[in-house]
Amino acid sequence: MAVSVIKINGIKTIFMPHKIHVMKRFFIALPILVLNFVFVNSQEIQSPEEFLGYALGTQFTYHHDAVQYCQHVAEMSPMVVYKEYGKTYEGRPLIVCFVSAEENIENLETLRKNNLLHTGLLEGEADGPQKPFVWLSYNIHGNESVGMEAAMKTLYTLATQSYTGVDDWLKETIVIIDPCQNPDGRDLYTFRYRRNQSRMINVNGDAFERNLGWPSARANHYLFDLNRDWTWQTQVETLKKLELYKQYMPHVHADFHEMGSGSTYFFAPGADPWHEVITPWQRDFHTLMGDGNAALFDEKYRLYFTKDQFDLFCPSFGDTWPLFNGAMGFTYEQGGGGGAGLALKLDTGDTLSLEKRIEGHFLSSMATIQVSFENRKKLISEFNTYFQTAQSRPEFEYKSIIIKGSNSQASLKQMAALLERNQIRFAYAHDTGKKIRGFDYHKNREGEVTIEPGDILVSAHQPMSRFVQVLFEPDSKATDSLSYDLTGWAIPYIYNLEAYALKETIQPQDDPVRFVPPENPESSQTPYAYLVNRTGFDELKFIALILQEGLRFRYAMKPFEIGGNTFNRGTIIVARGDNTHIGNTFDTAILKAANTSKVPLFTTQTGLVHKGKDLGSGYSPIQKKPAIALIGGDGISSYSYGELWYFFERELEFPVTLLGTDYLSSVDLTEYDVILLPSGNYNKYKDTLIAYARQGGKVIAFERAASAFATAKTTALNKAVEAKKAEDKKEDKKIKTDDPSLLKKYEDQRRHSLTSRSASSIYKVMLDETHPYAFGMGDTWFIIKRSSGYPYLQSGNNIGYITTKEPVSGFAGYKFQEEIENTLVIGSERIGRGELIYVTDSPYYRAFWKSGANLIGNMIFY
Ligand SMILES: [Zn+2]
Repeated sequence: MAVSVIKINGIKTIFMPHKIHVMKRFFIALPILVLNFVFVNSQEIQSPEEFLGYALGTQFTYHHDAVQYCQHVAEMSPMVVYKEYGKTYEGRPLIVCFVSAEENIENLETLRKNNLLHTGLLEGEADGPQKPFVWLSYNIHGNESVGMEAAMKTLYTLATQSYTGVDDWLKETIVIIDPCQNPDGRDLYTFRYRRNQSRMINVNGDAFERNLGWPSARANHYLFDLNRDWTWQTQVETLKKLELYKQYMPHVHADFHEMGSGSTYFFAPGADPWHEVITPWQRDFHTLMGDGNAALFDEKYRLYFTKDQFDLFCPSFGDTWPLFNGAMGFTYEQGGGGGAGLALKLDTGDTLSLEKRIEGHFLSSMATIQVSFENRKKLISEFNTYFQTAQSRPEFEYKSIIIKGSNSQASLKQMAALLERNQIRFAYAHDTGKKIRGFDYHKNREGEVTIEPGDILVSAHQPMSRFVQVLFEPDSKATDSLSYDLTGWAIPYIYNLEAYALKETIQPQDDPVRFVPPENPESSQTPYAYLVNRTGFDELKFIALILQEGLRFRYAMKPFEIGGNTFNRGTIIVARGDNTHIGNTFDTAILKAANTSKVPLFTTQTGLVHKGKDLGSGYSPIQKKPAIALIGGDGISSYSYGELWYFFERELEFPVTLLGTDYLSSVDLTEYDVILLPSGNYNKYKDTLIAYARQGGKVIAFERAASAFATAKTTALNKAVEAKKAEDKKEDKKIKTDDPSLLKKYEDQRRHSLTSRSASSIYKVMLDETHPYAFGMGDTWFIIKRSSGYPYLQSGNNIGYITTKEPVSGFAGYKFQEEIENTLVIGSERIGRGELIYVTDSPYYRAFWKSGANLIGNMIFY
């Protein structure tokens, strides 16, 4: 068949005017045939089976085939518009289809604009029709493999109006179908499944085709869980999707998932905890949506559950993020997942087929549109009210957030980018010179701030007020502590910013916030050395650039003064005398790197400092380009590995060699200066790694990776752990056999297990600011704490540590709090000629914990 790709670039050209024009002529010339049109048209649209050559549910579809099918339906139907909104890291298209009655498709731009005008996110007066946008997103987890198959069935059914009610629904709603939010993960799943698939359908759970190895196809190219990325938008799939989302601001968003094959089906209402900014109407609509789904599932005698497991608290998800953006957000979960394959024999003796899983998501898709249609008037009016009241009567107890302009410019820029991605407005603060009491995030208590020129204001008086509250409230309030994910995420902690939450309203200034890159003029002289003061992450990007140009640098271990300027610890010194091998491109290479990384350059004509240590002293060690290896494979956390991989390629932009555990024993590790160990089990390799360090290598063990060294007899970490055990034994810390706490109730088991856990809460980390690994980070930092810590090292450096019981934000159980006080977060020890470094929790969690990028950069460059 001839399928021509419809090229639509940018939102204004989405209507395919030529196509609509053709259809109009058709109506004018043949008015009598109008009634027959739907029938005639549906004859032209091929079913997925006709198009693909197999019935849905009998094979897993490759992404490119599903894309072509969407193009085909859009080509054949005047009710469907196909749009590509981006490309994945591996180059696959990210697409949606808009489906609605023809007149809505013709008016799409007007409907879109009116909707945005009502939110106040687009400036202007709204006075036109508004209809609900219902956005259905499938397959965000690649191996939750029913998603894209169900999306094709939904698209076909809507386009051919072959389900009771669709005709009416589409006159009043615009459905947006994203068949696959994670094409790279989904194709990895399909490729592996079809590669290992039995010719005769095999329902045996042991079969290779459903046990698909490392890494899991759940994640995207960089192994990120895209359903934990909605607020942070670190991954291209999320970023591009939400760019499109924000152009429409749908009223309803549903995200289709799968859970374990032993479970039935989950739909709304969501479980506790609900974030307190979720409005009464959003809660009511969750109940309405649950009722609508239940009716369709009851008809088919299908089992399901509501109000359990999938809560509505943390803003990372495809239900909460839309809820905090004024929409009705839903998670759907079909029992099955990648392991269910085409068919799986369950413990009950029943067989779970892919067809049955498709039916589950198909029914909930229909229910979502139907309930949205039936409640369309209130859906629209309450949506508009959500944004109006947000602007005029914000409920957040703090009306103004002040972020000091004196924070690291790199951190402020990163924060500004996040706010912009979430449509949160900010400006320079008025009332400079005024002294105001408020909550001091850094100190985690009441304090006082004097507003100065350059301080940034985030006001609660804005359309996204509720999301401002979610992202800035010092401690997020939940109805229950049993959350599915993070319990702390306040923005100032993520970027380690000095910031204050004030109860009074501060007015913004008119000038937009600008981060003016420094103008580094070409030097007319030939400087003795170039100096770059260390204030944040931009300087590490500068190092990454000059190293790739073959330059060598020194860094100052102590502060110094030269030419009337003072310089921090970690200041980068690029001396002409260290780089004679570069020749006459020395100055231009440095200037280019400084302008690219936006750091101000200082020059000096002497190595003699006014105060501190001279540039050529032993306090300014010379550094060359390190060769870095990152280990991945069986036994290693793919998320931790993916975070570090992403850090090098997309944050620092510096080469890293990825090594697999399956052939690690045959690799000559001495070719690498630094080996990074993502969280995982390294017991098999610990002797090799310690031998490598003894010969001069640097090993950085993240999260659980440190445990291999805690059990290695020769390390300082082991000595610390053993000393702690001996102390505990002396103090007789063991639970007694007659302890009444052992009499916990059966139904409280899960809650009880929380007492010894931190639910990804945020802890303050004290830093030894004189250690090079802490340069550019100040003397305190914050981290998402998920693991218990290690005791302080008796020999070695305790660089970062926790001295408090309580987190600054989020939930940590009382037993966890007892254990965590006075424990190590970042430690290093010399071993032979090399070094072992331990970081007990991810410093760069999910790539949104930007302040930790400094630590990783320091550990490899300093
Ligand atoms: Zn999922």
